Amino acid sequence: MVGSGAACHRRVEHWTTAKEHGAAVGYTIAHPDSVPRGVGPVPYFWSDHFGRRMQFLGTSAGHDETTTVHGDLDTDEFVVLYGRDGMLTGALGLSAARMLAQFRVALGQRSPLDAVLNPARLGPDS
Ligand SMILES: Cc1cc2nc3c(=O)[nH]c(=O)nc-3n(C[C@H](O)[C@H](O)[C@H](O)COP(=O)(O)OP(=O)(O)OC[C@H]3O[C@@H](n4cnc5c(N)ncnc54)[C@H](O)[C@@H]3O)c2cc1C
Repeated sequence: MVGSGAACHRRVEHWTTAKEHGAAVGYTIAHPDSVPRGVGPVPYFWSDHFGRRMQFLGTSAGHDETTTVHGDLDTDEFVVLYGRDGMLTGALGLSAARMLAQFRVALGQRSPLDAVLNPARLGPDS
């Protein structure tokens, strides 16, 4: 699939991507004359550890900047944004599902990190 924030092909080995691939292949088989459907533009995975859910949107590959926009890395709840060349490329969240979700659109649109950071006034994930 094409990785978010980068004009490249990337192998993404996560459950959500595997599911999207199945749906895309099934659609193409059922509609051979239609334009093939792709998979979502923003890679995603989640993983549960010790009762906490970790989620990642986009990619951290090649990042040159990270910004914690919610919580604290020393705690068990936070959101960290990854940037590359001033553009938002990824978002990592721990126990912050709603907070993380608000970055999905910006990631799909390859938004500048500044534009994402400045208007957002981030509150608690509740
Ligand atoms: C330990 C571990 C933890 C993971 N945790 C997470 C997680 O927390 N979150 C997440 O998003 N992803 C996680 N993943 C990744 C996720 O499991 C994989 O990305 C996903 O299962 C890939 O699905 P798939 O259907 O493409 O392949 P698979 O699940 O590998 O299924 C392929 C199937 O094809 C069968 N097969 C292979 N060759 C043949 C053949 N020649 N003939 C017939 N059958 C064949 C295999 O036996 C298998 O059943 C984890 C993976 C591992 C190993």
